[in-house]
Amino acid sequence: MTTNNTVQAQQPDGFVKNETIIAIATPSGRGGVGVIRISGKDALSLALKMTPKGLGRNLTPRTARLTKIFSTDGALIDHALVLYFPGPNSFTGEDVIEFHCHGGAVLLDFVIDTALVHGAVLAKPGEFSERAFHNNKIDLVQAEAIADLIDSQTRQAVKSAAQSLQGRFSERVTELDELLVRIRVYVEACIDFTDEEIEFLTDSQLVKKFEVFEALLDNTLNQAAQGQVLRDGIRMALVGAPNVGKSSLLNALVGDEVAIVTSIAGTTRDVLKEVIHINGVPLHISDTAGVRHSDDLVEQQGIKRTIAEVEKVDVILCVVDAKEADDIEIKLRDNHKNYLDEKVSHLVDEDNLVVVVNKIDSIAALPKKTMVGKIPVVWVSATQALGLDLLTQHIVKERHDAGEGAFSARKRHLHALESLRTTLITAKEQLYEAGAVELFAEDLKQCQNLLGTITGAVSADDLLGKIFSSFCIGK
Ligand code: GDP
Repeated sequence: MTTNNTVQAQQPDGFVKNETIIAIATPSGRGGVGVIRISGKDALSLALKMTPKGLGRNLTPRTARLTKIFSTDGALIDHALVLYFPGPNSFTGEDVIEFHCHGGAVLLDFVIDTALVHGAVLAKPGEFSERAFHNNKIDLVQAEAIADLIDSQTRQAVKSAAQSLQGRFSERVTELDELLVRIRVYVEACIDFTDEEIEFLTDSQLVKKFEVFEALLDNTLNQAAQGQVLRDGIRMALVGAPNVGKSSLLNALVGDEVAIVTSIAGTTRDVLKEVIHINGVPLHISDTAGVRHSDDLVEQQGIKRTIAEVEKVDVILCVVDAKEADDIEIKLRDNHKNYLDEKVSHLVDEDNLVVVVNKIDSIAALPKKTMVGKIPVVWVSATQALGLDLLTQHIVKERHDAGEGAFSARKRHLHALESLRTTLITAKEQLYEAGAVELFAEDLKQCQNLLGTITGAVSADDLLGKIFSSFCIGK
């Protein structure tokens, strides 16, 4: 909806956003420059009320111009650069004004207050991106990628967020959507011509179409999973009996004395968390209280917290004292939970377990076993810093393939892609086992809706609210 160079933000329910919003776009505190962003139909007229007469005539779209800014009582408060982005060719799709002021907190607040008096309203977190989304300037994946780019903890995470912002992930989703549409059109046509149904069920064309779709889906899932690991990292907990060296291991991995280490069992009472980065992947490590029977009330609380932590993490590092590891292969083969107290062992399966044999400096011979069945066994010495790289590299390599291009992706994207794969399997069963063509067609429709939830083409308002409210203000 374009009028006089302005675009009004459309809400999903058709409500037109009339408010012109304002926020400081740069971080709070002192700095050389502080950027104030204004978006909405009154952005230009509002800026003109705060600047010398005649500025409007001299303002060239997308070109910086030096100006003065006045408070409501006419006092000069700053010399700033002003930029005008007429909608729809702006980030939000609306008229946007940016003031690049000097970066003082009081000064920027003064400018904001002045604009509020002239009719602007304070932007909510993520409201600029939300307007861009509603005005079809970006889809939901790209909006999320902006937040991810800002929050990136490593350069790899920056690269994958930039890929998604550029639209690589969205393009892939569109590609999947187009393939699915072709399958749906084909199926719907066959339903309309029921005589040909039998032929259709064994149609090699349909099988081929499915193969192409599934291959692309698997590849997308893999790349999205890589991006999700880069964004959220890998959560792992150090668990095991008291005194095996869990806190020492945390200190050694972090390279600092963050945890108290003593030879007194039961020293660690609370879950202690630290993050390190390996090959661009954040590793969130929690040191937990050793799990054993204890009458000490505080220690019991610590053990409860250990259990709660183990439920949340991706990887459980079961730490074992090397002196207890003589027959480790037999013990693990007999029961892979052998070194874990039963209070936590039920939360562990072979896929999320890594056994870490610590204190190898205190034993004479080095056992060489690195895998027992599916369970990796890594030999280290926390105090002598032996084997630590091997341990972290192993954990990261198992979950993140550095060679693959990644899209910055979130858990909700992965869930949608995984549900899509499951629904597709059900759909094919409906077709090939039960011959239920109508149900099959319904399932395909559901698959397409799942793709739509990723880009925001299909979305519930509360989901949008949740996503954008997690953004920072001014974005
Ligand atoms: P936690 O109770 O499992 O957290 O164990 P701690 O980290 O508090 O360590 C218990 C004791 O084992 C301390 O005296 C540590 O110095 C010692 N320890 C930890 N790691 C090693 C190691 O790699 N080699 C040796 N020789 N001693 C260690």
